[in-house]
Amino acid sequence: MKETRTDWHDRLSARVNAVAPSGIRKFFDIAAQMDDVISLGVGEPDFVTPWPIREACVYGLEQGYTSYTANRGLMELRQEIAAMYATRYHVDYTPDTDILVTVGVSEAMDLALRAILEPGDEVLIPEPCYVSYAACTTLAGGVAVPVPAKRENEFRITPEELEGHVTDRTKVLLIGYPNNPTGAIMTRADLEKIADFAEKYDLIVISDEIYGALTYGGEEHVCFAALPRMQERTILLNGFSKAYAMTGWRIGYALGNPTILAAMTKIHQYTMLCAPITAQMGAMEALRHGEKARKKMLSEYDRRRRLIYDGFTKMGLDCFEPKGAFYIFPDITSTGYTSDEFAEALLQAEHVALVPGTAFGACGEGHVRCSYATSIDQISEALARIENFIKNHKK
Ligand code: PLP
Repeated sequence: MKETRTDWHDRLSARVNAVAPSGIRKFFDIAAQMDDVISLGVGEPDFVTPWPIREACVYGLEQGYTSYTANRGLMELRQEIAAMYATRYHVDYTPDTDILVTVGVSEAMDLALRAILEPGDEVLIPEPCYVSYAACTTLAGGVAVPVPAKRENEFRITPEELEGHVTDRTKVLLIGYPNNPTGAIMTRADLEKIADFAEKYDLIVISDEIYGALTYGGEEHVCFAALPRMQERTILLNGFSKAYAMTGWRIGYALGNPTILAAMTKIHQYTMLCAPITAQMGAMEALRHGEKARKKMLSEYDRRRRLIYDGFTKMGLDCFEPKGAFYIFPDITSTGYTSDEFAEALLQAEHVALVPGTAFGACGEGHVRCSYATSIDQISEALARIENFIKNHKK
């Protein structure tokens, strides 16, 4: 449609105008116009959801499960979630009051921030991090306060680094480990220090643990809420998109104290009503019988992780060896390009799409994010092209 007025932008909400479009999309729009592109760009498993999960959903439809569910989600699903947390992490959540099933972690993140932020409240966000953290904070009326995590410290965040950013308005600490885009994890000792920090400043901690089931090399994921005294002040977010290759199902959940969860449920009730019943049935099957399929995908990601890490290291790029999620974040400063220039020139010259590190915060400059949730063949070909690019296009 051709717009006849010029002031539509001014009529939009200032909060929306304050948010820039995601830096990830730009490159995909360019890549979509090209032939023969290998994409290491999207943060999405290349596997189709395991068949038993799809079958459970089909069976549910055959049986006529097509209605709304309780606002908080199917009770059986909430019971499965509670059982999984009790078994895996030894932390107890009551299905009636402490669990809310959402439309992905994306919705849960939005609800959590909207439920707790007053205009001007500050949210400490270690960066580099997932693109939605700062945007959702702004949209909820809060102020995102980025805190750079350092490569020298394997992209882990420390209380000392956070301390320097605390003000009277600091209300929330938002962490996401295993981390997108760096593949960093936090050890129990690291998180215990963060727990002391959260307690010292009486912060609510939002912990996005969507990659918690994807860790490598014997590293065990540490659930933040399971640390001593942390359960009550933590809003724990998790979902099915990554671990079970269920991105399109749009299903996740939030766990937390009954008061905060009731507030989040209130927003969810009026804006979403409930998560789709078919997706909830698939999620239930994933928790009941999806473990074998999850482990199989995990070991395949691990194979790819080692291939891509070796590839970048052999090319001479400094590279943190990822310990979780399915991303790697090589340092490309030795090529003379900025992150943006590198991503754009590589795409034009060699038809490989990846994401500039700056999409994940200003401190991502000098890096690019590559997803290895793609086949070994594609990764090998992409590595050969990147090597070629670096040899022939040094600035
Ligand atoms: N959190 C992180 C760290 C992510 O990387 C993503 C997706 O890439 C999400 C949340 C969104 O997950 P969902 O598909 O459950 O909305």
